[in-house]
Amino acid sequence: MSETRVRRVITEDLSNVEFETSEDVEAICTFDTMGLREELLRGIYAYGFEKPSAIQQRAIKPIVKGRDVIAQAQSGTGKTATFSIAILQSLDTQLRDTQVLCLSPTRELAVQIQKVILALGDFMNVQCHACIGGTGLGEDLRKLDYGQHVVSGTPGRVFDMIRRRVLRTRSIKMLVLDEADEMLNKGFKEQIYDVYRYLPPATQVVLISATLPHEILEMTSKFMTDPIRILVKRDELTLEGIKQFFVAVEREEWKFDTLCDLYDTLTITQAVIFCNTKRKVDWLTEKMREANFTVSSMHGDMPQRERDTIMKDFRSGQSRVLITTDVWARGIDVQQVSLVINYDLPNNRELYIHRIGRSGRFGRKGVAINFVKSDDIRILRDIEQYYSTQIDEMPMNVADLI
Ligand code: ADP
Repeated sequence: MSETRVRRVITEDLSNVEFETSEDVEAICTFDTMGLREELLRGIYAYGFEKPSAIQQRAIKPIVKGRDVIAQAQSGTGKTATFSIAILQSLDTQLRDTQVLCLSPTRELAVQIQKVILALGDFMNVQCHACIGGTGLGEDLRKLDYGQHVVSGTPGRVFDMIRRRVLRTRSIKMLVLDEADEMLNKGFKEQIYDVYRYLPPATQVVLISATLPHEILEMTSKFMTDPIRILVKRDELTLEGIKQFFVAVEREEWKFDTLCDLYDTLTITQAVIFCNTKRKVDWLTEKMREANFTVSSMHGDMPQRERDTIMKDFRSGQSRVLITTDVWARGIDVQQVSLVINYDLPNNRELYIHRIGRSGRFGRKGVAINFVKSDDIRILRDIEQYYSTQIDEMPMNVADLI
């Protein structure tokens, strides 16, 4: 996508967002005045950033200062870049040891973060390794043995590398939990604590997410010291730029025809279709293909190689319609995605925000369409109320909004 096109479609001013903060947090309006090192600034501008977004203006400095930070901002507003820039500023690249550990819930996200860190740090001679499951151990051993300033990984493999003493933790000074609420949820919490116990006691902790429910914020006192909180009010979490609709399908059987009717709309740019189970993803993919529609699909039971190929094709625009599970709900950044379909409504309120946030990246326009059966309407209204947002019936001209 050419740069001029990217600029034209940005609809929202991302620097104009209100936050609730635990103490006075200064907003620094330019990258130039953040006190960043010259090689990093070069990397930021070379990557195409001109002005910091609201969360970047507020959160980079406190992280660089060494404070524990809890940072929340709407999806697609530059959180990954926020902690990536802060990480890079905090490194001593003369030292080969691992100094920052960043944990994420999915392998694709860990790799995406690695790529962003390497790109922004292009002029810094930084070593950053993606330490993820589903890959051969040999590469991890080799890379970690060589020395990596930053490790971006998933908890299982990272813990494995720590236990084997391949990933040495003695120089780690910062732990970043991206999608922190997910990382501190039942499924991951134990693994995070396993890793945490191996880190030096003074390790700085940074939590990042678009959603940070109360119960998660409450438990942070157990492993954070006097953190700065930069939070978004719940009713400001949905983005103006992402229009949300529903289609009343009444019964499950009618979802498929509705999706087929929408196919042309899906391919205007790129679309992601969410189902609640891997089996349903397989089933829907098969059925769409039988009906001669071109779709790709991805879920956590596929071999990592296949997942990699699917991601590559989707990122390059070679495939345009992706059917997937919540493995794709959080963090993945593909700027051309302008449409999200909830073939099934998500199982909780947080996932709704993350799923629709796959479109409308960094102020671009996005559309989310929810398929609702009669007994789903309750759930949709709950989401609408919880986020003080509006989800209207899908208009005929929905394609014009993309
Ligand atoms: P989040 O982590 O909040 O979901 P990302 O950090 O992935 O958001 O950023 C979303 C998109 O916006 C990415 O494609 C990223 O490159 C771009 N982006 C981030 N910060 C800036 C900026 N300051 N200027 C321009 N584009 C940016």
